[in-house]
Amino acid sequence: MRISPDMTFDVIIIGAGVVGLAIGQKLARRDRKLAVLEKHDSFGQETSSRNSEVIHAGIYYPGDFLKSRLCVEGNRLLYSWCREHNVPHAGMGKLIVATTEEEASSLEAIRSTAEQNGVPGLELLGKKQLLSIEPEVSALAALLSPTTGIIDSHRLMQSLLLAAEDEGALMSCRAKVTAIRFDGAGYELEINNGKYRIKAKTVINSAGLHADQIAALAGIDIDARGYRLKPCKGNYFSASPAPRLRRLVYPVPMKNNVGLGIHATLDLTGRVRFGPDSRYLDKEEILCLTNSQNGNGLPRESALNLYKVDEGHKEAFGNAIRKYLPGFDTAALHPDMSGIRPKVQGPGDPVMDFIIREEESYGYPGFINLIGIESPGLTACLAIARHIEDNFIKDGK
Ligand SMILES: Cc1cc2nc3c(=O)[nH]c(=O)nc-3n(C[C@H](O)[C@H](O)[C@H](O)COP(=O)(O)OP(=O)(O)OC[C@H]3O[C@@H](n4cnc5c(N)ncnc54)[C@H](O)[C@@H]3O)c2cc1C
Repeated sequence: MRISPDMTFDVIIIGAGVVGLAIGQKLARRDRKLAVLEKHDSFGQETSSRNSEVIHAGIYYPGDFLKSRLCVEGNRLLYSWCREHNVPHAGMGKLIVATTEEEASSLEAIRSTAEQNGVPGLELLGKKQLLSIEPEVSALAALLSPTTGIIDSHRLMQSLLLAAEDEGALMSCRAKVTAIRFDGAGYELEINNGKYRIKAKTVINSAGLHADQIAALAGIDIDARGYRLKPCKGNYFSASPAPRLRRLVYPVPMKNNVGLGIHATLDLTGRVRFGPDSRYLDKEEILCLTNSQNGNGLPRESALNLYKVDEGHKEAFGNAIRKYLPGFDTAALHPDMSGIRPKVQGPGDPVMDFIIREEESYGYPGFINLIGIESPGLTACLAIARHIEDNFIKDGK
């Protein structure tokens, strides 16, 4: 079956990133008409394919955050999904390395928060123990997290889509939601500037970097609700020749958790990549991102420029890396790729949680917003899907 104009659905999910697809897979049922709408030619063309592909353990977030609970649960669910659906992954573990006395003394607090969050198997290592398992890494102490790993995010998304389609879900690409109207009983979604319209009782806004704009289309005051996103870019550089690492290596995180610091990740082929750094987009870049969504005439190239790796950051990367890999030569760094975090937390703000809300009390029953689904959204995708089913899908449809 294909989507045709004026069809009515039980559930429409806007956005076929890893989160939208995970929700689609979870909610798809033979007796429920469900569709996932995606504006690009294929799924996962935005943040879900521009990240570190790390299966996080749930170490850093405060215990009362959804980020923490859904990451710990998502980690477990993701490993078992990978095994069941043959999604390539590797659970090689991660080291958080302390290179100053101050950082070393903060490792105990990081471990304690993580253990309260339910992260299993953490181990504090001294300098010698660290050298015995990662000879190229130099640090005073480290925290080993054995349940951190990596995943092939493209194959994950493919498996989620197949599972959703197996249960009768439809996915429609090149279907950009351009207007949303609530008539008191349900929602009418205009696709591609009025090319066609479809209706739905439940709408799930999983539009990543554009989730605030989708909420605004429905009539929600995104400033009053605290939904306006502050996009924050992260660059990656690959290393060749690369240090020999068996595990992911992270510095002790920055105080405000804007990012996790310039860390070393491995991909499933063993390639070493460093990043991401963090820089909030400036006004002009945000305008470009918004216009690329609203189709206000900016050329595609200018949207792509947003993702261009800034080579000027190379020296800063080299300096950050040498703190834990002392012999590292900056000349080994090559621009790789970048991603943009859909942050609710602005510059200087305290760390913010995922926002996952059904907007009934605000006058929009059945409209479910997912805002600020930055890291660890990939890890948490299956737990987010379960959270939505358990909390917001009330009438069985
Ligand atoms: C630099 C970086 C590193 C990260 N590293 C990790 C990591 O290692 N581990 C981890 O767990 N998480 C990580 N994350 C976070 C993770 O990548 C995201 O949380 C996750 O990919 C979000 O998925 P999503 O489906 O919400 O959003 P997206 O992947 O952005 O999907 C949203 C989709 O909505 C579509 N869309 C938007 N507007 C419309 C419209 N009007 N009509 C139709 N479709 C629309 C878009 O085209 C897009 O495909 C990282 C993020 C970044 C930026």
